[in-house]
Amino acid sequence: MYDVPREKVRIVCLEAAPKVLPQFDAKLVDYGVGVLEDRGVEFLVGKPVKEATADGVRYAASETEEKEIKAGTIIWAAGVRGNSVIEASGFEAGRGRVKVNHNLTVPGNEEILIIGDCSLIINPANERPYPTTAQIAMQQADVAAINLAKMVKGDTDLVDFEYHEKGTVCSIGDNDAIGVVFGKNIKGYPASFMKKVIDDRALLLIGGTGVMMSKGKFKFYK
Ligand SMILES: Cc1cc2nc3c(=O)[nH]c(=O)nc-3n(C[C@H](O)[C@H](O)[C@H](O)COP(=O)(O)OP(=O)(O)OC[C@H]3O[C@@H](n4cnc5c(N)ncnc54)[C@H](O)[C@@H]3O)c2cc1C
Repeated sequence: MYDVPREKVRIVCLEAAPKVLPQFDAKLVDYGVGVLEDRGVEFLVGKPVKEATADGVRYAASETEEKEIKAGTIIWAAGVRGNSVIEASGFEAGRGRVKVNHNLTVPGNEEILIIGDCSLIINPANERPYPTTAQIAMQQADVAAINLAKMVKGDTDLVDFEYHEKGTVCSIGDNDAIGVVFGKNIKGYPASFMKKVIDDRALLLIGGTGVMMSKGKFKFYK
């Protein structure tokens, strides 16, 4: 693909945690990892990256031993942070994210609302922050709009944000994916179909038909 001889490409995925994609059911993870391994991707799981250098990556192979993988291309996909503008603006934040009140206002600065990747809300079910996703950002936007209108009118009875998880789909190629939609585990082509529908719907909601048509994914056939 892309005129690069397959035999010249080695892809290694280093994951620090004991398993990849821990938010998914083990069977879905096994399926996703299997698909990628069949395509030649190597997984090194439970191996934290220690250092990215100019010509490779050093990782902890065990508690006492470090190893190196030579690499010409390193893709860092291990963590999301909010915008540095947040910290530069003087908000109390961790990795550019502000722990907001239930109504999305900022503690100590209740005239300010923060949503999306720059906000942090704890999931009461597991006491961990909700992940930074478009799904949560879009739901926050609706509540923020209501609360902003209330604030402009001097109404202090603001609405609390409540997250409604509609599912998560993880793409593993053009025609493959794993996911949970409306509580059901899905994988393979049906999951990839759903992923495209979800992405197109998000674009429609954000930008209308024009944005969906120009940026959407419409290759639904295999
Ligand atoms: C590769 C990738 C894949 C993802 N896939 C998914 C997915 O499948 N599903 C999902 O739900 N979420 C996904 N996400 C997460 C999702 O994109 C974000 O959670 C969501 O976009 C957050 O919305 P936001 O409005 O907070 O920030 P953004 O959508 O990032 O919008 C912030 C905007 O602010 C602009 N901006 C930044 N700095 C400044 C500045 N100083 N001045 C003016 N403008 C500025 C940026 O250019 C950007 O347009 C993905 C993210 C990445 C990076």
